[in-house]
Amino acid sequence: MPRIGKRPASLGLLCLALLTGLAWQPRARAEWFSRQAAIMGTRVGVELWHDQAGPARAAMDAVLAEFRRLDQALSPFIEESELARVNREAASHPVAVSAELFGLLEQSRHFSELTHGAFDITFASVGYLYDYRQGRRPTDAQIAARLPNIDYRQVELDPHTRQVHFGRPGVRIDLGGIAKGYAVDRAIALLQERGIKHALVSAGGDSRIIGDHEGRPWHIGIRAPRDPQGMVAVLPLTDTAISTSGDYERYFEADGVRYHHILNPRTGRSAREERSVTILGPNATETDALSTSVFVLGTQAGLALVERLPEIEAVIIDSQGRMHYSDGLRAIHKRP
Ligand code: ADP
Ligand code: MG
Repeated sequence: MPRIGKRPASLGLLCLALLTGLAWQPRARAEWFSRQAAIMGTRVGVELWHDQAGPARAAMDAVLAEFRRLDQALSPFIEESELARVNREAASHPVAVSAELFGLLEQSRHFSELTHGAFDITFASVGYLYDYRQGRRPTDAQIAARLPNIDYRQVELDPHTRQVHFGRPGVRIDLGGIAKGYAVDRAIALLQERGIKHALVSAGGDSRIIGDHEGRPWHIGIRAPRDPQGMVAVLPLTDTAISTSGDYERYFEADGVRYHHILNPRTGRSAREERSVTILGPNATETDALSTSVFVLGTQAGLALVERLPEIEAVIIDSQGRMHYSDGLRAIHKRP
């Protein structure tokens, strides 16, 4: 029995070996996959390390789909967006919003309180009158009339009903100072859920890195504010978020004055103390909001805030082109 039985058995094994031999393909060596798209008014990019092309592409598709979803929900320019509806209705009656938008409004309020109003999503009450592409800006009288509408305290949030109500007419909000960072964090979470360990996601000036780059840090450059090709520093980074706010991103010049997209909520005009602020920290929502905040606060108050916050570092280029580093980076910078 063993002999007779053996033949078919070994034949079977041979067949099995042949079959699996056909099905077996050498496991592809891991490689970098990358994708870019124009979303949220900026260039969105994802780069990831994967050993299979199919799942890598699916992950990149999921990232770009998430950016598009958030753009549809949060853009003030898309009429059907949840945010646009809030701007249309919240002065007349409380508006119930998604948990996601409510969470972002709460986070925005947190940064307003932390920065004593330097970060303020109601900047848009005046900000909507600027068009940086067309070179349009409000008159002094228009700014003066609307300046009282810039006040984050006018955005009343009821966590029980998840409703938003504006305390006065004329208030408008815009999440441009925090939404890209939030989207980057969401994208990173999607990649992590898929088991991806090494990736970079960026949306304009907001990026986040997970893992390293083939055993070495990623190298992320900080642009020179007045030289489109130049870099002022290159930072070796792993597992971190990095956001840069610059006066060179969206601006026009008139009568020798640069009008750019970061507004000082106290004046309704472009913040003037800095050319560029880069913030490093654990997540991109925070680094995005803080880069805008420190840009408005200026070097002294901005660095004082950064030193109070755990795990946050800053590189500032001020209006004179001088560079300033937070304590944690100064140590690295001075190392021979
Ligand atoms: P970028 O959009 O280039 O990444 P930032 O992160 O610096 O730049 O954000 C600038 C955007 O933040 C502006 O385009 C505007 O939508 C918004 N914003 C401008 N001023 C303020 C402010 N004082 N507080 C909160 N958001 C602001
Ligand atoms: Mg920002």
